[in-house]
Amino acid sequence: MARLFSDQKLVIASHNQGKVKEISVLLAPFGSQVISAGDLGLDEPVEDGGSFIANAMIKAQAAAKASGFISLADDSGLCVDVLGGSPGIHSARWAGPDKDFNIAIQKILDATADFETVAAHFTCALALCWPDNHPDGGHCEIFEGYVMGKLSWPQRGNRGFGYDPIFVPDGFDLTFAEMEPAAKYAISHRANAFNQMVAACFKAP
Ligand code: IMP
Repeated sequence: MARLFSDQKLVIASHNQGKVKEISVLLAPFGSQVISAGDLGLDEPVEDGGSFIANAMIKAQAAAKASGFISLADDSGLCVDVLGGSPGIHSARWAGPDKDFNIAIQKILDATADFETVAAHFTCALALCWPDNHPDGGHCEIFEGYVMGKLSWPQRGNRGFGYDPIFVPDGFDLTFAEMEPAAKYAISHRANAFNQMVAACFKAP
């Protein structure tokens, strides 16, 4: 049986403003006070796990330990079928130290130039972790969500973040970066993982 989130304050273990914004919107109906690890000045831990889930747990456990509050981390990325799932857990790294996604997008374009249709999906792992000083100390709840689609060239749209300008979800013609934010939130990998987490761990408002 999953642990219920019953505290007031929740730390989002991320320094990525795009993610923090999306997570805050998705959690808004539950009335919890959301604060980011960036706002708290917490260090970013080294993400050296071998999977999305392992990296989400590293981030959430580090934030829970440093803040003393229940913490939620999202580890996510774009997986391209013909690249064996890359960039995958290295999605952020492909953009280089300056987090320049034009570089990452160009790398994907170069690596898939021989293919007409390039199937891809986004994965999102969520880890909700309790701090040691809590009655449920050290516990983590884990969820994984997906959105399937294909890549589109040239990149289109200026909303969202990361790889949004080249990803077209199945059943749509627009890239994530062309969609209204609410339309992306409704179908994204993050929403898919969130729906599972909310059903298991959050009481209906
Ligand atoms: P993380 O912070 O290590 O989880 O890095 C995730 C990276 O995956 C981000 O920096 C983006 O490049 C990419 N990514 C994850 N979710 C999305 C999304 O919803 N849209 C576009 N790119 C995403």
